[in-house]
Amino acid sequence: MRVAVPKETLPGETRVALVPETVGQLVKAGLEVAVEAGAGEAAGFADAAYREAGAVIAANAAEALAGAAVVLKVQRPQDAEADRIPEGATLIGFLQPAASADLLRRFAERRVTAFAMELVPRITRAQKMDALSSQATVAGYKAVLVGANRIGKFFPMLMTAAGTVPPARVLVLGAGVAGLQAIATARRLGAIVQAFDIRPAAKEQVESLGATFVGLTLEEAEDTGGYAKQVSEDVEKKEQELLTRLVADADVVITTAQVPGKPAPRLISAAMVEGMRPGSVIVDLAADTGGNCELTQAGKEVTHGGVTIIGLTNAAAALPVNASQMYSRNIAALLLHLVKDGALHFDFDDEITRQCCVAHAGEVLYGKPRAPAGAPGAAG
Ligand code: NAD
Repeated sequence: MRVAVPKETLPGETRVALVPETVGQLVKAGLEVAVEAGAGEAAGFADAAYREAGAVIAANAAEALAGAAVVLKVQRPQDAEADRIPEGATLIGFLQPAASADLLRRFAERRVTAFAMELVPRITRAQKMDALSSQATVAGYKAVLVGANRIGKFFPMLMTAAGTVPPARVLVLGAGVAGLQAIATARRLGAIVQAFDIRPAAKEQVESLGATFVGLTLEEAEDTGGYAKQVSEDVEKKEQELLTRLVADADVVITTAQVPGKPAPRLISAAMVEGMRPGSVIVDLAADTGGNCELTQAGKEVTHGGVTIIGLTNAAAALPVNASQMYSRNIAALLLHLVKDGALHFDFDDEITRQCCVAHAGEVLYGKPRAPAGAPGAAG
């Protein structure tokens, strides 16, 4: 069974779906892997390393995809790319199903079976396939380095002959996977870190990393999957009041607050930015979903009253080596979950398969009620 890895085509995407180490693992499992020439180049993985791991190097995307039963991607396919996926093949990647209705219809028409990495359920059994977490870890780390680079201050406290330098103050909004990694990274650099969230579970996690929890802990804010729910306008107002003082006191604010399937909560108003010291920096990791700061512009850096607001998008692509390594392990784990005796086998009674399959056998499954058991038609 042939597994194809085309080069990513989205501008700025430096990651690759499989790294040589994982190719070796799939080849050992009896799969044939075809990698488009140069697919790993931007992440530092040369064609020769893939060849050594047992992959075939294809001259271009068409050659890599020819005869492929499985196509592995990071980003959802762009227009022309989608039609190049062989009919009846299986595609796995970050497919953004909520924003890809047309694409899913095209998959169904061409009987492509599609799995969205962002829908892997957050259950213990699926942890090794959890690409949202692995990529959020990278993003949280990178956001702190971006912030540290943009302020004109040290992060650590320094006691020197030239006097004592106080440590930088970092505020992290949203203490999920990215936020916790941001806290750990800022602490390692020596900053004083405060963190804010609304899920009660976040408090202990924040404190275990040596930061101070300054959030709200609302029992009703957490859903059964461990994610935050959208809060009422009243709660958002209460949060803003609490945050006004905390934001004004921070040198760097890293914002990561998200609610799955909803626009990012608006936590920092323009007035709050105006209360910050000139030279301070906000790094907004929620920029892709509208931003946690009113002034954020996705993919841009704006300055307001001397404060820099960075709308960081696709932050994981800024650290492509480890981001690709981690993603590659995640996607290979999901693929091997779907393979029995060297062939694909879809068991829709299995929670992982059922939750992340968005198109199968000519049908779009995303958005359909997901029955706990039964035929593909019952999945969703
Ligand atoms: P996410 O990216 O959806 O959200 C980031 C953070 O924003 C969350 O901590 C959320 O509580 C917070 N947030 C949302 N609205 C907010 C608001 N109005 N004010 C302040 N903060 C707000 O979440 P995530 O990082 O992908 O995951 C969240 C949690 O899910 C994790 O911390 C963990 O507990 C759980 N999780 C479980 C598993 C597993 O069991 N396998 C894997 C990954 C994550």
